[in-house]
Amino acid sequence: MDFSETDEATSFRHEVRSWLNEKLVGDYRKLGTSAEMGAHDWHVRVSWEQELGRAGWLGLTWPKGFGGREVSVSEELVFAQEYTLANGPQRAGFFGEGLLGPTLITFGSPEQQQRFLPPILKGEEYWCQGFSEPGAGSDLAGVRTTAVLDGDTWRIDGQKVWTSQAQFAQWIFVLCRTELEEKAHKALSYLLVPIDQPGVEVRPLKDLSGNDHFCEVFFDGALTSADMVVGGRGNGWKTAMGTLGFERGTAFMAQQLRFAKEFANVRALAQNKGLDEDLEIRQRLARAYGELEIMRWSGLRNVTRFIKGGQPGPEGSIGKLFWSKWHQRLGELEADLLGADALVMHDEGTLEHDFQHTFLFSRAHTIYAGSTEIQRNIVGERVLGLPRE
Ligand SMILES: Cc1cc2nc3c(=O)[nH]c(=O)nc-3n(C[C@H](O)[C@H](O)[C@H](O)COP(=O)(O)OP(=O)(O)OC[C@H]3O[C@@H](n4cnc5c(N)ncnc54)[C@H](O)[C@@H]3O)c2cc1C
Repeated sequence: MDFSETDEATSFRHEVRSWLNEKLVGDYRKLGTSAEMGAHDWHVRVSWEQELGRAGWLGLTWPKGFGGREVSVSEELVFAQEYTLANGPQRAGFFGEGLLGPTLITFGSPEQQQRFLPPILKGEEYWCQGFSEPGAGSDLAGVRTTAVLDGDTWRIDGQKVWTSQAQFAQWIFVLCRTELEEKAHKALSYLLVPIDQPGVEVRPLKDLSGNDHFCEVFFDGALTSADMVVGGRGNGWKTAMGTLGFERGTAFMAQQLRFAKEFANVRALAQNKGLDEDLEIRQRLARAYGELEIMRWSGLRNVTRFIKGGQPGPEGSIGKLFWSKWHQRLGELEADLLGADALVMHDEGTLEHDFQHTFLFSRAHTIYAGSTEIQRNIVGERVLGLPRE
């Protein structure tokens, strides 16, 4: 690939950078880059999303016909880079803009598109993903939540778990069983369900870092109207796989930049603590740096493929295996550098250092978005062509 930037991409970069310089100030800047989104700062995050929406930075890759900006892969990458370099806050609207929006554009009815896409682009409505259940995570086709059509209304019963941001969302997209006489995938439908109603109860769960990142969601006779099925009855599996496939190709690049910044802070911590002459610490820093470079070059290779019109394939699992373990090891190094400080937690359950957060939250990296074992199965079966389990 030719890494020199086109004039269009450079001028887009200047536009993004100067907008971020002007707008990412005050309370927005104070949000920092932490993945912790709490009730105390949710309204600031919403206001930031609306700021992005007014300036046309939401739905960057969506087609113009759906209100998006339809930018190229290179420009999408430029935005991700500039946003990361400017320490832009974690995106509160990810589930709507990144997952449900593209799903509706591909599988939704014109009425669903007209109803739901504009509020996502304005940062006015927030979504969460109701796929996993206590007995169905990796084996997603085993979901047990049911929806029964009664006249022009679906009645939903069951439970979801690990539902990120459910305590803040107004809507949830739910994978559930509707064709009760059918088996496995054919029984499933993909429903859009309003959360603020008597039949839905959301209970936040605290994770290791003390943050309530995700929730349990209980449906007890929850209602949604008959036309809230995306992709048609019994086609829920196909629609859900579409949602899972809308991982942004260039997200890897922004992530590598975030990791590079974090690595620089870890190196500085080692220096400040006088541990940069410790042989073992030096080894671990050198390994982390080498692997960071591997992630950078792999990310660029992916971007090259997408620019040429390629699609993400099963090889993407190699990247997930690599970065999840890398970030866990960096968290372990951070905890070791902090020493006893790594154990300090305030009475109210908050942490003393961002470094502690990496150590604790990165435990989840090998579980969400496809667990490590599942990624290995994908590499074994779909990349290496080994016999299926
Ligand atoms: C931080 C975080 C956020 C999340 N957010 C959401 C969300 O917003 N919405 C949502 O729907 N879900 C969410 N999840 C849930 C996540 O998708 C599931 O945790 C994940 O799919 C694993 O499912 P499970 O927890 O049921 O574990 P299980 O599938 O029960 O797996 C348990 C263990 O068995 C292993 N295993 C399972 N099957 C196989 C196999 N075939 N071969 C070898 N080993 C296997 C797994 O690797 C794992 O180690 C989130 C999870 C986390 C940690």
